[in-house]
Amino acid sequence: MFWADAPPGEKIRAIKALGVNCGQLGLLGDTDLSQSHAQAWRQALAEENFTLVTVFTAYTGESYADIPTVQGTVGFIPAATRQERLARTLEASDFTATVGVPSLACHIGFVPHDRNHPDYVAVRDVVRVICDRCASNGQTFALETGQEPAVTLKQFLEDVGRANLKINFDPANMILYGTGDPIEALEVVRDSVVSVHCKDGDWPPPGQPGALGTERPLGKGSVGIPRFIAKLKQIGYTNALTIEREVHGDEQRRDILAAVERLRILT
Ligand code: MG
Repeated sequence: MFWADAPPGEKIRAIKALGVNCGQLGLLGDTDLSQSHAQAWRQALAEENFTLVTVFTAYTGESYADIPTVQGTVGFIPAATRQERLARTLEASDFTATVGVPSLACHIGFVPHDRNHPDYVAVRDVVRVICDRCASNGQTFALETGQEPAVTLKQFLEDVGRANLKINFDPANMILYGTGDPIEALEVVRDSVVSVHCKDGDWPPPGQPGALGTERPLGKGSVGIPRFIAKLKQIGYTNALTIEREVHGDEQRRDILAAVERLRILT
């Protein structure tokens, strides 16, 4: 999982140097979504023989500092930015189509558990609009897991009622947000999983309401990566395994190289 923060050819060559041939591209809140930029990505992918499985969108103003901050800033929950983020996501779908990628994804934010809550209804309607644009572009739209329990997510998918609405399953997020055992969650939503993040982490510290858990190098946290891979095999998942490691610099490079090796052994 990498970001569009460098020229496409340069970025792809740096990712390939980690020993992988596919991945997911994240668009920052200010990434240029012009057709010419999309064409540049399309051309670089072809030249480097690299496969993008998903394009992720993020939005200006989002913060993952702690759970209340995530609730107040991420995705389509904040009403003040809902319409501008919807418009940008529709643009991102068109960008993704030009790049030639069959799936768009994002964190939609904390979906309330109450199906009659105004935010639930508003976000459900926003997701319908995004799904319809993605369908017209031949894409799935995938929701990142973690901020709500699997049963809430499954109910939300049913309420949206769009066949191209899918899940990008991140087992570490279930732990970091304290929303439930990731392997049990994967069983609940198994039929909707189109892509996964291979990420690890530990549960939130006890006695600190609102605190997030800590992300850890793959295999060093509480997910249980061997059981995660075994569960993916059991449900017949054959799509890409995308490593996500949200640190920077040498630490990120070292941890990703180790994760590639670990996944080679497990698969
Ligand atoms: Mg993730």
